[in-house]
Formats: sequence, structure tokens, C-alpha cells
Amino acid sequence: MAVNGLNGVNGVNGIHTKSDFSAFKVNQSRLMEHIHDGCQFGAAHRYGDDPTETGMDRLSLNDSDKQVRDWFTKKATAIGCKVTVDEMGNMFAVREGKNKDAPPVMMGSHLDTQPTGGRYDGILGVNAGLEVLRVLADNNYETEGNVGVVNWTNEEGARFPIFAVASGVWADVLPLETAWNLAEVSAGEDGRKRTMKEELTRIGYLGEQKASYRSNPIAAHFELHIEQGPILEAEKRRVGVVTGGQAFKWWDMTIRGRDTHAGTTPFFARKDAMLCAAKLIVESNRVAKKHGGLATTGILTQEPGSINTMAHTVKFTLDIRHNEDEVLKKIEAECQDAFAKIAKEDSEAGCSIEWKELVDSPAVHFHADCIAAVEASADAVCADLPKTAEDGKLWKHMISGAGHDSCYTNRRCPTSMVFAVTKEGVSHNPEEYCSPEDCAVGTQVLLGAVLRYDKQRKF
Ligand SMILES: [Zn+2]
Repeated sequence: MAVNGLNGVNGVNGIHTKSDFSAFKVNQSRLMEHIHDGCQFGAAHRYGDDPTETGMDRLSLNDSDKQVRDWFTKKATAIGCKVTVDEMGNMFAVREGKNKDAPPVMMGSHLDTQPTGGRYDGILGVNAGLEVLRVLADNNYETEGNVGVVNWTNEEGARFPIFAVASGVWADVLPLETAWNLAEVSAGEDGRKRTMKEELTRIGYLGEQKASYRSNPIAAHFELHIEQGPILEAEKRRVGVVTGGQAFKWWDMTIRGRDTHAGTTPFFARKDAMLCAAKLIVESNRVAKKHGGLATTGILTQEPGSINTMAHTVKFTLDIRHNEDEVLKKIEAECQDAFAKIAKEDSEAGCSIEWKELVDSPAVHFHADCIAAVEASADAVCADLPKTAEDGKLWKHMISGAGHDSCYTNRRCPTSMVFAVTKEGVSHNPEEYCSPEDCAVGTQVLLGAVLRYDKQRKF
């Protein structure tokens, strides 16, 4: 085990000792009650008769987000935590340990959702953190250092279109002003787009604490999250020990052509921005596939929007991903070349392309000490479960396909993640589901990882 993690962030010099935290049992029904109780704020998209059979529509900093933030404060305070809020609205609930001065070990995730989101993405991680603290409080267990839960603002990037923007500011990867001035994707009823700062102020969550790892450091960050993919379920395993994350990049693409009459403009005289955009999207798919990566367009808009007029401007988002930085660069370069050619030659008389980079997130390698703590905990938790997997191994190492706040915290403190089984791998969907048993197993692994890490802390 290295003294420092792969990313050079100092850890606790290896998690070697066998610790027994089996007496601390996560309360599955209490955990599930809290998950669903918090989901009363922003519940949407009913798909079944049970009260819990809805998805979520809780965009960052909207009224439901304010309500669940108030709820989070109440729940954390009831466990004996002190809750502080920073200038990005990130919420830190901390339970004191023996050493009250050292930075806390935090369990973090997010309470905002996609517009057609589910009840587990982010929500499970925050609730798992609270449940861990409840178990510690029930047992009057004093951790070596402070331990807490953080609710990161706007992780989804669904309303304010930079993913994990608030943990990014905390990590000093994104400037505060950029984040504050970020306008929402869709305008409000009055046709105006609000900025993050306006909305933070409006709902009362523009905190005074600086959003910075320097003035508000974290000793280590652990995040339980649903896998959001089908692998654990398909292999009949229970837990993912996440060692890192895929590299990915996002762009706003703008294609400009010319709006002319659909009946009177022959193909040779057209600058068809829509046709061009369509070909570019298909091309990105081809290039990504060729390299074993992924390419996605999730938003596409056009102007002016008339049946018998070509679009003069088409905007779309492009998201490309790969496990390795080098291959991602190749995919990007090949798309650049191919796009230029398509715009010039294949969109009739030619269109212009503008690439506006939104996110550049390199491949992430989590900290060896945190990974070791999760492995040890997963070993202990899985020992008591029925051996469903063919090879008997109930946990496996995984690379996260999605971005997470943990990818930013990892730059500033030892970090790792735990994955829980996701039914059919479906996420960002109202029917997203993680069974109560799997929610509890994941939370139990989180608890064991945090306590193992805490036990090794030296002040
Ligand atoms: Zn999430």
C-alpha cells in the first residue's frame, strides 16, 4: 500500500488492521422510511399504486429543493450534527468525534434530481450518510475525528448546466463567479432565466462559509451511489468497490446555416444546419463506438422552427466518455476532423460549427486508502450474505461510468465510492430502483468503510 494515494493526496497510510464493526447495524426500515419521507418534496411521474412508486422532479434550487434542504437540516440536527452552508449552497452536517479540531471524514452525495429522475440517484447516498450517523448515535460511538454528511448543490447539472458545479467550486476547479452566474437551462414562467446566485439567494441557501477546500477542508470523502448500470445485477453481486471514474467531456455545439424556403431551395443551394447536425451526431456515435467509448446528444434545439423553412441555427450537446484520457483525446480529435469535413462537404453548401467546451473531466483514480477501507468493509458485509454470484464473489472493483461529486473531492482529499445494485441498470428515470436490502447493504458497507478509515486517523 502506498503512503500516498494514486493522486498524491495524503491518506492515512494504509488500512491494514482487521476491525470489527459488525455490532453497528444499519436499520433498513428506518433508512427506507427516511429516503421516501424526503421524496415527498419533488415527487413526480407516478408509475404504480404504492405511495413510493413515483419518480422525482427536484431540480437544483427550486422550491422542492429548498424544502428537502430544510428537511435535511432538521434530520441532521436531530442526530446531533451541526449544519453549515457555504456560498454554493453546499450543506455540511458534522457530528463531533474525540478530536473536534481536525477536518471531518464526510459521506457525500446530492439531493437534486433530473427532471425525470428517480428516488435513489444521490438521494440514497445522502440518506445513507444520515443513517450511518444515526447508528453511531444509537451506539454512543465516539469516532476518532469528526464525521459528517454533505449535500452537494446541483450535482446533476440538469438545471444549471455544469455537472457537480458546487463540489467543483469547493475543489477550486471551477471559479465561484462562473458558477454563480450560471443561468438555468429553461426560462421561468416570465421568460427569464435565473442564475445560480439568484436562486441560492431566493431560497435562502447562499451561505456565508467560503466554498473552498482550503477554509473548509475534508479529511476524506466516501460516497454511496447506485451503480446506474446493469453489471452488479447481471452478475448477481451486491456491491461495487469503485476505484475511479471515466474521463468525459461535454460541449455545446452550434451549427449555423441559412434559413431558406423548403420548396424553392434545391439541395445544392442549401446550408442546412439541421441536416448537418444530424450527420454530426451520427458520426460521433460511430467514432466513439470504434474506440470502445460513448457519445451522447441529450439536448437539441433549432431556430427558427418552421415546417417549410430550413433551420439557420441548430444547437446540440455532445457528451463523450472513455475510461482512459488518451483514448478520449483520440475520440475528440477524430470527431473534430470528421465534423469539419461533414460541415463543409456533406451539409449541402456548407455550415459553420462552433465547439463550446462545458466540462472537461479527466479519468479519476480514487485514493488507495479509501479503496482499501471500502474493500475491507465489503468483505465483512458480504461474508454474511447468500452467495448468489457464480464465482461466489459478492463485490467487484468497478470504474464509474458517470461523473460524481467524488471526482472533484478526490482532487483535494482521499476519496472513494461504493456502488449499490440498480434494477436493470435504469437511472435518470422515474422507475429507477434499488431494493431496500441493497440500499441497506450499501449503507452497511459505507458505515464500515468510514469507521475503518476513522480508526486509522492520526492527529
Ligand atoms: Zn448522482
